[in-house]
Amino acid sequence: MSETLTKPTRRTFFVADLKCYMCGSVAGSIESEQSLTVAPSVPRAVVLRRGANDQGMQVLNWRSLRCERCGGPLFVDEVEVITRRYEDYNWTDERPRRGRPPKRLIEERRRERELLESQAA
Ligand SMILES: [Zn+2]
Repeated sequence: MSETLTKPTRRTFFVADLKCYMCGSVAGSIESEQSLTVAPSVPRAVVLRRGANDQGMQVLNWRSLRCERCGGPLFVDEVEVITRRYEDYNWTDERPRRGRPPKRLIEERRRERELLESQAA
C-alpha cells in the first residue's frame, strides 16, 4: 500500500497586501510560493489580485508596480502563510471522448509562459 498516492498535495503560499508608501491605500494582494519579503536575485512571478473577486494575473516584478491612486511605490504588508490542498487529479478518469483533455491545461501553461516572457522583455 502506498499512502503517498492517496494523499492530497499540500502547497504553501505566501500572501500579502501591497500597500502604498505615500497614501497607504492597498493596491492589491500578491501571492507566491516563495518568500515575498526576500528579494530574489532573479525576479520571480507572483500572482497579483487587485480586488477580492479578481482572478489574479501573473506579474513578474511587482516591485515595478505603482499605486493606482497616487503613483507611489508599493511595499509588502503583513505576509500571511496559507496552505492549500490539491487533490491528485487522475487524468485516466477523464474520458477522452468527452473532449476537455489535458490539452486545455497545456494551453494554459503555454499562455502563462508567454505572458511571463512578454513581461520580461
Ligand atoms: Zn498611493
